[in-house]
Amino acid sequence: MTTRAQIIVRGTVQGVGFRPFVYSNASRRALNGRVLNNAAGVLIDLEGEPADIEHFVRELELNPPPLSEIESIERVENLLPADYQDFRILESLADGQKLVPIAADVATCSDCLTELFDQTNRRYRYPFINCTNCGPRFTITKDIPYDRVNTTMAAFEMCAACRDEYENPLDRRFHAEPTACEVCGPRLRLVDSSGSGVNGDPLSVAMNLLQQGSIVAIKGIGGFHLACDGLSEKAVTNLRSRKFREDKPFALMARSVEIIREYCRVLDHEASLLESQMRPIVLLERRCGNIVPRAVSPGLNTLGFVLPYTPLHHLLFESFDRPLVMTSGNISDEPICFTDSEAGERLQKIADYFLVHDRPIHIRTDDSVVRSFQGRSMVLRRSRGFAPAPVRTAFEFKTPILSCGAELKNTFCLARGHNAFVSHHIGDLENLETLRSFTEGIEHYQRLFDIDPQVVAYDLHPEYLSSKFALELDSIPTKIAVQHHHAHIASCMVDNQIEGEVIGVAFDGLGFGIDGKLWGGEFFVADFCCAERIAHLANVPLPGGAKAIREPWRLAAVYFHRTFGDDFINLKLPFTANLDRDRWATLRSMMARKINSPGTSSMGRLFDAVAGLLTLRRSINYEGQAAIELEAIADRVASKSYQFQLDGSEIVAEGVVREAVEDLLNEVPVGQISARFHMGVAQLISDLADKVRTERHLNRVVLSGGVFQNMLLLEQVGELLSKRGFEVFTHSRVPANDGGISLGQAAIANTLIQSGREN
Ligand code: ZN
Ligand code: ZN
Ligand code: FE
Repeated sequence: MTTRAQIIVRGTVQGVGFRPFVYSNASRRALNGRVLNNAAGVLIDLEGEPADIEHFVRELELNPPPLSEIESIERVENLLPADYQDFRILESLADGQKLVPIAADVATCSDCLTELFDQTNRRYRYPFINCTNCGPRFTITKDIPYDRVNTTMAAFEMCAACRDEYENPLDRRFHAEPTACEVCGPRLRLVDSSGSGVNGDPLSVAMNLLQQGSIVAIKGIGGFHLACDGLSEKAVTNLRSRKFREDKPFALMARSVEIIREYCRVLDHEASLLESQMRPIVLLERRCGNIVPRAVSPGLNTLGFVLPYTPLHHLLFESFDRPLVMTSGNISDEPICFTDSEAGERLQKIADYFLVHDRPIHIRTDDSVVRSFQGRSMVLRRSRGFAPAPVRTAFEFKTPILSCGAELKNTFCLARGHNAFVSHHIGDLENLETLRSFTEGIEHYQRLFDIDPQVVAYDLHPEYLSSKFALELDSIPTKIAVQHHHAHIASCMVDNQIEGEVIGVAFDGLGFGIDGKLWGGEFFVADFCCAERIAHLANVPLPGGAKAIREPWRLAAVYFHRTFGDDFINLKLPFTANLDRDRWATLRSMMARKINSPGTSSMGRLFDAVAGLLTLRRSINYEGQAAIELEAIADRVASKSYQFQLDGSEIVAEGVVREAVEDLLNEVPVGQISARFHMGVAQLISDLADKVRTERHLNRVVLSGGVFQNMLLLEQVGELLSKRGFEVFTHSRVPANDGGISLGQAAIANTLIQSGREN
């Protein structure tokens, strides 16, 4: 007896080899019918023995194609027979709602790698080899449906051999849109900084140049990298000075995990992150005595490593056992270059040579950065390899929402149904170029995912360019402002798929509070609707506003002054010895007259102050640098912890500063002082959470904000809270830093809209 069933598969199922998989699965079981991509995903129409259909579906559930991500499998039965005589793959339906997620870019798969180094293969050493299971996706897609004409490969007409593969349902390259070969596809070129071609095989010449200490700009998947020999102090220092990137760490690329192990400790989970198809940069602990120059990551005890993720990378590393610096191709804080002309212009004074190709990059996408925390991955920058895959949510976005994120480390988010399309990392919205990526990115995502937002959510901060953009958006009249730290907590809740009231701890740099002050050391009882401020770090003035962020010594002086009064300058400490008395006098009168000295409750700034009083540094060159270095010098074990005091709902830090200063005067090593400070913050969280639990009967603690990228603090807090029986939630899928804000904004706006409380 034969029967007929239609199966609708939703999720990331297009452009990932789904139809050929279905074809061979059906043919093997003598099932007839059709398969096609439609707006919902993939539609499979089957006729045959019921048991065979049963097995077919089981196989689909248990062993789907590697790159697919099935959200749901729906089955329609009791259909009239269609009497199919064979099984066929039909062309896609282009119309209808564009519901189908475009996949993220994927690292070269093992099948392609085998072919790449197989002398008998027609793609032997072809730097743009890819297949249905790997290669560029998001970065080359201009529009949907995801067909070649809608990608930057449209200009390359397939040769007969490539077309045969492309049209053969049983071939690995069936409908692999970016497929190409030496005959018909993109080509590599090496040019010098004046744009003239360099003779010889581009790859081997480039490799020689790198070995001789040159800086080579290499066009990748989402933009240009600047590469140099990662073990050459001279090359690294040279690159650093040309890039005006005084201290920001450089990422390294090496051929294999084994090679990385020479320089870093690599745990099993870290190895699996390195080898994952997303191929992020993974932050790893430096090994003692490793020979990577300090100039690669000044002041830090970590190195960021990434494995090769394009065929070009694999070819570069074929016979190279050292790591290469592979840092983003930009000048200091500008966004990464992604077009040839832009790179030629902006990187001309940095790179000696350019290794380029003629496959355009449609959308700029930086490398992602992750870290492993107690066997769980923690995304610090969610970009290439992850975006534009949605963050799936347990709740539903019934009204499509656009949320504009924060100012620094910006991402935006478009949400609909159970999907929150958190964008790739846009960057700091401080220049026109980045603002353009932001606005164009929003348009692009709206088109790709066919989302027409009815609501726009934005940060309360009136000066954020993302907030201004939202307020000026005439096409969306419903606007919802979301407090920054409430968004942090909501973001971490969505990340962990939890709902309802929680104890929320939001510690970060600065965010605009509902009282107009700059918050950042906040304790809430929060849900997706409200955030009740239970306690916060006592306000201190931020003399000079943004200047105080760049100069941690200012905060140190402020805390010194609050703790010891004007006499602090007589303390016998390196900090006071180095203090510029005139500048301090100016600062002091500024604060007394309340000029340009906004109040702040920021925990990030307290970390700065402690780093400042340990005279780690007077000024910083990138966001969070002082705090990161404070963590880097800390002993792993604290023999005691400093004590914060509570004054009503205010957390008073003066006692902590006093203890730190006494320790310093007693010549306690700075590593121990830092550890005791970290432990004090952990103890504060644990004690306050305990107090809130007693009063409010809540047992879930949510930790968010940039401060919680601090591994030592996370470890200490996690241990203390778990000991007391709390459920602790930290970030994993989206960053704890401001890169996660857009997701939190979307969740809050959604709840407010659905409960009719948007005003
Ligand atoms: Zn492949
Ligand atoms: Zn070809
Ligand atoms: Fe923040």
